[in-house]
Amino acid sequence: MTCQAGISYIKPMANLMEKVVSLAKRRGFVFPSSEIYGGVAGVYDYGPLGVELAKNIKDLWWQDMVYQRDDIYGIDGSIIMHPKSWEASGHVAGFTDPLVDCKKCKKRIRADKLEDWELKKENKTGQWKIVKPGSLKCPECGGELIPKVRQFNLLMETSLGVLEGEKMKIYLKGESCQNIYLDYIHIIDSFSPKIPFGIAQIGKAFRNEMTHGKFLFKTREFEQYDLEYFIRPKDSAKYYKEWKKIRWDWYVKRIGLNKKNLHWRQHGEDELIFYAKDAWDIEYKYPWGFDELEGVHDRNNYDLIQQGKFSGKKLDYQDEETNKRFVPHIIECSGGVGRTFFASLLDAYHEEKDKNGIRVFLSLDPRLSPYKIAIFPLLANKPELVKKARSAYKNLSADLVVAWDDIGNIGKRYRRQDEIGTPWCVTVDYQTLKDDTVTIRERDTMKQKRLKVDKLKDYFQNRLK
Ligand code: ATP
Repeated sequence: MTCQAGISYIKPMANLMEKVVSLAKRRGFVFPSSEIYGGVAGVYDYGPLGVELAKNIKDLWWQDMVYQRDDIYGIDGSIIMHPKSWEASGHVAGFTDPLVDCKKCKKRIRADKLEDWELKKENKTGQWKIVKPGSLKCPECGGELIPKVRQFNLLMETSLGVLEGEKMKIYLKGESCQNIYLDYIHIIDSFSPKIPFGIAQIGKAFRNEMTHGKFLFKTREFEQYDLEYFIRPKDSAKYYKEWKKIRWDWYVKRIGLNKKNLHWRQHGEDELIFYAKDAWDIEYKYPWGFDELEGVHDRNNYDLIQQGKFSGKKLDYQDEETNKRFVPHIIECSGGVGRTFFASLLDAYHEEKDKNGIRVFLSLDPRLSPYKIAIFPLLANKPELVKKARSAYKNLSADLVVAWDDIGNIGKRYRRQDEIGTPWCVTVDYQTLKDDTVTIRERDTMKQKRLKVDKLKDYFQNRLK
C-alpha cells in the first residue's frame, strides 16, 4: 500500500487482528473492562490514548455534521427514556436474536449464525421461525442442540424508583437515535427550522449481544453517531443520494480510510425492514471480511408516526410552502464510534523492515492521532536542553495534545511514538542552543528538517487543517 508520502510498505494481513488488539491494549488505547475480576465479555474501557482517538473521531463528526451546517441541530439525549418509546419503536417485541439450547453444555447458540440452518424473522412482529433446521451438533461441545428457537431480546433492562414493588421497568437505550424522534417536537418549537433539517446526536447504546470476540466491532455498550434528516416525502430520492455521498466521503476524506477497504451493501428484500424504502450499509473490510460500519437508510415516516401514535401527540410539520401539515420522512445515517475506531487502527497499522528489525507505525490521519507532537530533549541529563524542550512543550501543549518523552535513546523514542501514530517528533539538541532551531521528524517518511522554535505552532496548526 502507499502511504501519505508515496513510499510503499508491505501491509501484513496475517494476524492483523491479533497485532492491532495487542497494540491497543499494550499502548493504552483499549482495556478489557474489569479485567482483574476476569472481565465482562463484550465490554471495554478506553485508555488514555483511546479516549483521545475516540474524541477526535467524534469531534470530526460533530464538526462536519453540526458546526458546518446551518440546517442541523445537535442534541445530547438521556440514556433513560420512557419505556413506552421502546414499545412504539418495536424494540420490546422485535429486537431479538434467535437462540437454541445445547442439552450437554447448556450454552445458548445463535441459530441464525449456524451455517446450515435456515431461519426467517417475521418483519412486523420480529418473531423468528425455523424454516429448516440444520445439524443438531453443538459447535461449542459437540453435544445435541434442541431445535426450538427462543427469542432473546437485546434490550438491557433496569428499574427506576426507590420502593421495592413500585419500581418501573425501563430499558437502557438500545439505539441512540430514539431521543431524536422524541425531541423533534422541541426542536420545532424552539428553533422553527425550515424543512429539510436534521437532528444529530452522539450517544451511548446498550445491547445484550451474544456474539463476542470481534473486539470493538460487537460490544454490549457502545457509542453511535446518529443523524436523522427530516424531508418532504417527494424529496426522498434526492436527499438519500446526497447523504450516501456525504457519509461515504466522510469515511474516505475525513477519517482517511482506504477506499479499497470500503464498499456499499444494499439490504436484500428479506432484510429490509417493512416500513423502509431503501437501506444501504457502508461496510469496512475487517479481518473476517466486509461488515457494517454505518447504515444510511431511507426510513419513510414510520418512526414519527409510531411515536406519535403511542404518545398521543402530533409529530408533524406545518409546510410553509403549501400550508399543509404532514409527517416528514427521514433519511437516517447511523454509525458506530467503536467500529470506526477499530477500522482506523486496522487501516493505519503498518510494519516495515529496518536495520533494527521491524518498525511498527500507525499512519493515522494527524487529525485523529492521540498526540499530534512528541517533544524530546536530546539528552535527559543536560539541564539546558531539558529547559529549552520544556519551554517548547509548555507553549505547544496550550493548543495541541503533546507528548513528552526523555527516556532511552532518540531511536527508541521515535519507535514508541510511531507505534501510537504520533505524526511529528520534535528534538531539542545542541544546535537549538545556538540558533533556536529544532529537528522535526515525520512519522511515515522518517524525513527530518529543522525549523525555528517560534515557528512550530503555526507550522503544526497549518498541517492539521
Ligand atoms: P450489526 O447487525 O452489524 O451488528 P446493526 O444493523 O444492528 O449492526 P444498527 O442498529 O443499524 O446496527 O446500528 C447503527 C450502527 O451502530 C452500526 O452501523 C454500528 O456501527 C453500530 N453498532 C451497532 N451495534 C453495535 C455493537 N454491538 N457494537 C458496536 N457498534 C455497534
